[in-house]
Amino acid sequence: MLDSDIDVPLERIYVPPSIKKLKRGQEDRCGGIETDNTSRGENNVSCYKELLHRDGNQNNTMYIQGDPGCGKTTFSTKLVLDWCNAHSENIISTKTIIPRMATSSKETPKQTHFSDVDALRDYTFLFFVSLREYSGTMCNVSQMVEDAIKSNKLPWDDSVWEDKCIVLTDAADEWYHPDPSKSNSACKCKDRSMPQYLQRNNITNIITARPWKLANLKMSDTSTRIFQISGVLDYKTLAENVINVLAEKDGVSQKAHQSKCNDFLKKLTYKNMINLMRIPAICVQLVHQFYVGRLMEDSLCAIYMYMLDMHIAKGLKKTSN
Ligand SMILES: [Zn+2]
Repeated sequence: MLDSDIDVPLERIYVPPSIKKLKRGQEDRCGGIETDNTSRGENNVSCYKELLHRDGNQNNTMYIQGDPGCGKTTFSTKLVLDWCNAHSENIISTKTIIPRMATSSKETPKQTHFSDVDALRDYTFLFFVSLREYSGTMCNVSQMVEDAIKSNKLPWDDSVWEDKCIVLTDAADEWYHPDPSKSNSACKCKDRSMPQYLQRNNITNIITARPWKLANLKMSDTSTRIFQISGVLDYKTLAENVINVLAEKDGVSQKAHQSKCNDFLKKLTYKNMINLMRIPAICVQLVHQFYVGRLMEDSLCAIYMYMLDMHIAKGLKKTSN
């Protein structure tokens, strides 16, 4: 969130993304945000089961590509939370929390996407690695996992790799092999584009990246899949969720939230900016600008300028702290 004072559970804001399975040969030309949702509708993925399996068999390597701000990291975080929920003893009570949305009580929950957390229960372990943290220092993902566990002072046992695992690695585009000019750390990897993954039938590697990183990827085996994430399905709910959280902080009434939200959507339609809303990172920023009364400008340029302004101010605040 843009307001560092606000710290709420992800479920309060989260809206499921639009994820599509890409066919072979389609990967390199589908990087952008899709505005036409009707094309390739049959490839929509709406649950974990569809993501993790194909024709009843488990996918071993899955790439999830998407442009910046499309929700790759948020989806990864939600996957981790859902895996925890699936393994929690309170699964029945958590199930009722997951579809909790900011919609009025009369409406049925819109969030049926990826609600099959049961599909994650089969996996004994889930390891999440933010690849940028190991960029230039480590090539082997299983080594990264081991390093992360040990640096958290948790016991490590190699036998975890015998169990059914998900290894979720985020932002492969922010990872590079160690610099060969620094002889100490240079690696001997043949594949210079990706880190090294354990390839075993019991291990499912999920890799998120921006499309350019995967453009030249060679996919030889049939258990590898590429998916594309392209923003949220329901940006109105996302906007509502964000407004509710902001308004709650300020002690604004429920009724006032709703009218504020309607004003916001009207304003965007009037400004012909609804398309921008499908990119969740931009959606959240626009809502925030609107909320603080800065979405008054008529030009897109001014709106982008404020967005940059907000990020720079946030960055400066961070460094001064
Ligand atoms: Zn390497």
